[in-house]
Amino acid sequence: DERIKEASGRSRSSTKDITHVPDMSHHTWLVTGTNRGIGFGIVQQLIASPSNEVLATCRNPSQATALAQLAETAGGRLHIIQLDVSDDTSVRRSVEQVSYIVGESGIDYLINNAGMIEEVWTVPSTMNLAALNREFQVNVIGPARVYQAYLPLVAKSQKKTIVNISSDLGSIGRNRGIMATSYSITKSALNMLTYKERVERPDLIVIALDPGHVKTDMGGPTAPFEVPESVSGMLGVIGRLKAEDTGKFFSFRGEEHPW
Ligand code: NDP
Repeated sequence: DERIKEASGRSRSSTKDITHVPDMSHHTWLVTGTNRGIGFGIVQQLIASPSNEVLATCRNPSQATALAQLAETAGGRLHIIQLDVSDDTSVRRSVEQVSYIVGESGIDYLINNAGMIEEVWTVPSTMNLAALNREFQVNVIGPARVYQAYLPLVAKSQKKTIVNISSDLGSIGRNRGIMATSYSITKSALNMLTYKERVERPDLIVIALDPGHVKTDMGGPTAPFEVPESVSGMLGVIGRLKAEDTGKFFSFRGEEHPW
């Protein structure tokens, strides 16, 4: 793919142009929806590595007690930032704060994790259209808004990577049947957003990533995977990403999903 060759060439030459060799081991991550569930698990594992600096965003930092406890042990590497993905003002304010913290090094990894589901057992003929609208606001327009706001910070980083947390329910190719109709529609749309971002920005790595069915408030208590297993799988996939992986849809085990 010419675009990918061009992208890897461009990032190589821009690295060569830098006179002071940057600290390649220091990575900055921004994650949405980190007060609970998979987002919190991602922050926990990232912060365990001293080379990571984490911008953990959530809607209500004053109620994010587990995050606050984690920040106390993180030696200044964990910043808790207010960010509601459905609110323009909140996202704009967060960019100002984050720009001040990260400065010229930008954001290496932007993880669009925040998401919601209102109705699981739904079919097209009876799904609640207001619920579809609300799910769309958070699961699709949210990541689109965050992409628009954070693109300059990602583009000036070293890793230039965007991960959209999707679901195999959004994959038509995996043929998961009728359940969670409205939520599945939003994740298919997120997959298309991922593709469009990849086409627009061949200088970045943009992927969709399926965490598996995980025990969280969303996944429910009988889900087969625990948060740490899903998260370590996903961080492994992200850590192994190469330029040619952009525009792909992966499972947390690193298998490529059909769209
Ligand atoms: P949870 O319901 O446990 O957590 C959802 C998180 O998203 C919470 O932190 C919540 O914050 C946040 N959130 C919701 N709306 C907004 C918003 N408007 N702005 C900012 N944050 C918001 O879900 P999971 O941890 O299970 O899911 C995380 C991601 O993984 C989602 O994108 C989900 O679709 C996806 N996924 C999950 C699966 C599973 O089995 N668990 C399977 C496949 C995909 P608050 O506490 O403020 O509501």
